[in-house]
Amino acid sequence: MPTCRSCKDEVDELVAVKADGRRIKVCEDCAERIAEEAEIAEMSESVVQDMMGFKGRR
Ligand SMILES: [Zn+2]
Repeated sequence: MPTCRSCKDEVDELVAVKADGRRIKVCEDCAERIAEEAEIAEMSESVVQDMMGFKGRR
């Protein structure tokens, strides 16, 4: 049985996801969670960039 790289659970099927620029194989539950976290990280990064750009223009 394959083992999820994230929660260490043994699952029937693993899904490949991109995390920190690397591809890892995790279960479907973790794949969903990682995809969500990656989205949030991307969003907060652009918010920081907006703030910095705002400061730079003042
Ligand atoms: Zn998992």
